Amino acid sequence: PPIIVRDFAPALGLKPFKLISELMAMGVFASMNQTVEETVAVKVAEKFGFLLEIKHRGDAAAQQAKLAEKAKKKKDPNVDDPKDLVPRPPVVCILGHVDHGKTSLLDAIRKANVVAGEFGGITQHIGAYQVTRGERKITFLDTPGHAAFNKMRERGASVTDIAVLVIAADDGFMPQTDEALQHVQNAKVALIVAINKIDAKGANIDQIKGQMQQRGIASEDWGGETITVPVSAIKGDGIDDLLEMLALQADVLELKANPKAPASGIIIESQIDTGRGPLATVIVQRGTLRIGDAIVCGQHWAKVRAMFDDQGNNVKEAPPSTPVRVIGWSGAPDSGAEFKSSKNAREAENIAEEEEDRLRKLAAAQAAAPKESSIESLFANIAATQQKTLKVIIKTDVFGSAEAVRHVLESIKSTKVTLEIVSTDVGLIGKNDVLMAGTGGAVILGFNTKLENGVTPLAKHHGVRIETFNIIYELGDKVREMMADLLDPEL
Ligand code: GDP
Repeated sequence: PPIIVRDFAPALGLKPFKLISELMAMGVFASMNQTVEETVAVKVAEKFGFLLEIKHRGDAAAQQAKLAEKAKKKKDPNVDDPKDLVPRPPVVCILGHVDHGKTSLLDAIRKANVVAGEFGGITQHIGAYQVTRGERKITFLDTPGHAAFNKMRERGASVTDIAVLVIAADDGFMPQTDEALQHVQNAKVALIVAINKIDAKGANIDQIKGQMQQRGIASEDWGGETITVPVSAIKGDGIDDLLEMLALQADVLELKANPKAPASGIIIESQIDTGRGPLATVIVQRGTLRIGDAIVCGQHWAKVRAMFDDQGNNVKEAPPSTPVRVIGWSGAPDSGAEFKSSKNAREAENIAEEEEDRLRKLAAAQAAAPKESSIESLFANIAATQQKTLKVIIKTDVFGSAEAVRHVLESIKSTKVTLEIVSTDVGLIGKNDVLMAGTGGAVILGFNTKLENGVTPLAKHHGVRIETFNIIYELGDKVREMMADLLDPEL
């Protein structure tokens, strides 16, 4: 069996980087996915105190070859022929503690690119953008905060190749920095650290590097393996270095995809536009998405009517790692969900309808399921009926933020008050929401959205409370307050 760098390194307890440089020292130049010759492998293993025994199983190898031959003849459409694989841009996300400069850094990178390019266009936040650096491209997820990243991880879909962890030089590691680092390590995504705000008073780069070392991610210049770039998002210092390091890291990862396959990929975010209907930003992971293609995502489908990039330019085709906003959806698909190509619009519609049917039946079955009748559940039910419940209706600008709101609400723990999310939707807060809230005795929570005309008097008439927010933790605080208010003061 071939000995591949990617698998061989962990077997020796080494980071692939380390193995590659070890090999280099021996005059052998191998990258991540390349095989190491047996004699070389034995030597390296010896150096790290391992005795490498290579078993040649002739039969197994022959069988493997036969299977490969068979697969080739059948030509499985889901398996790429290695000769169709071409390099693709890395997809990068930026994580870090609040106020450490994620948004500023994303803006600075975008700006650096605009100066180089001929665009003077109006940038649109579509959830992701791509910058060009010489011959290469780098794709950035433009959703600071890791709600989107988390969601994708939960769904088992991973779009990101490299995570940039932002740490403010004047503040250091904070709880969300550690949390983000944990996510990156769990997701097995490559890590680059950007030490930001190096221009700020009290900036101390060495202190941050010390903190990195304590966490086992020592920076390269401290004898570790973590690429670390000092930057100032505000002044623009170090941005070019950061892009260079990202390009370098992408090389090491040898990212490839088959542009010839039917397109599939991930939904980054979606929203419903009053003029253009449902919109969704997607990142193609395999294949090329073209105008006229039919795609399906859960119970929604699209015949791609038009595609735009983050400058609002019309795009005719989107190869792997390219983010585009797609118009032509039947509804707004969920962020983090996977989309796939269909033969044609009819097939796409059928698949989406089947999925919708399945979900409807599932919901109906759950509602009709006989309740447990053990003594415990009886007591639990009594307790539940005595519990106070705060019902909420959530309205947000995009699905991505709906998920963030849901996340915050789910993190609120109370034994005395139950929090019930009646519905979650995207768009302005309208009269229907008020009527629904009035009937169900719910509160409306708006996030990054506004009220339609005439909603305020209607809400007053029905005694419906509407609260709107632009900052997620303020929403969390307010909900906690409302839950506390529900409890009788004497209890
Ligand atoms: P986010 O919450 O991580 O997205 O952080 P922001 O990008 O919103 O930045 C938070 C604050 O830090 C803002 O007031 C920025 O102006 C400031 N800031 C961001 N980058 C820098 C920097 O490089 N230097 C200085 N001095 N301030 C910065």
